[in-house]
Amino acid sequence: MQINVLTLFPAMFHGVLQESILKRAQEAGHVHINLINFREYAVDKHRTVDDYPYGGGAGMVLKPEPIYRAVDAVKENAETLPRIIILSPQGERYTQKKAEELAREDHLLLICGHYEGFDERILTLADDEISIGDYVLTGGELGAMVIIDSVVRLLPGVLGNEASSEEESFSTGLLEHPHYTRPREFRGMMVPDLLLSGNHEKIAEWRRKESLSRTYQRRPDLLEDYPLTETEQKWLEEFRREEKND
Ligand code: SAM
Repeated sequence: MQINVLTLFPAMFHGVLQESILKRAQEAGHVHINLINFREYAVDKHRTVDDYPYGGGAGMVLKPEPIYRAVDAVKENAETLPRIIILSPQGERYTQKKAEELAREDHLLLICGHYEGFDERILTLADDEISIGDYVLTGGELGAMVIIDSVVRLLPGVLGNEASSEEESFSTGLLEHPHYTRPREFRGMMVPDLLLSGNHEKIAEWRRKESLSRTYQRRPDLLEDYPLTETEQKWLEEFRREEKND
């Protein structure tokens, strides 16, 4: 996969892209990430990227020319047309489902805003406007890093064990079950005996039930779209009964 990022602050990405799984994914050639400072595409000698808003008001607005010229340059040099994503608090809220959709693309182009945001005409470039949550950040860089991280770890071969991303929270439609590692007892807290039983069928069932129980307790909204099996329906009724008796 090719990922291009248009940003005024490429240095913000360095730590994130040069550590751990993202670093290894690039070294192994699963993803090529290119940071482009769109100030280089400004049309005046002062390299201006923003200007005062028409109609007055606070803050500076990103001008269309540098971003349009940077996007043209990416398209000219690319083998495949990019899917263009603009980071914006007004965009569609980002989810694991969207990450899975983006992971199927060959080329992403992420555009990070700053200051008061974009001249409205820049938004016509976008295939998607994405928000990473209902709060306002100073710039799109952290959002772009969230997208890169969540997409790259889904690319085939990036995580050692393919199953580890398939069973995670949201991928199955539910939150994931709890995990334990050694020691068996820690400060009086025990690992559930069943996990040490070696009975893989029972362990799988325990995990499915715990996953459903967590989702019911913490994110019941996720169950609205989740197709429950007969057994899960029974477990859910059990949780509801237990709740009433508490
Ligand atoms: N004036 C804009 C508004 O009220 O919608 C907010 C601009 S914000 C200060 C500057 C930039 O940060 C945005 O253009 C966007 O790229 C990025 N940004 C801020 N919050 C974001 C969020 N929740 N998700 C994605 N990007 C965000």
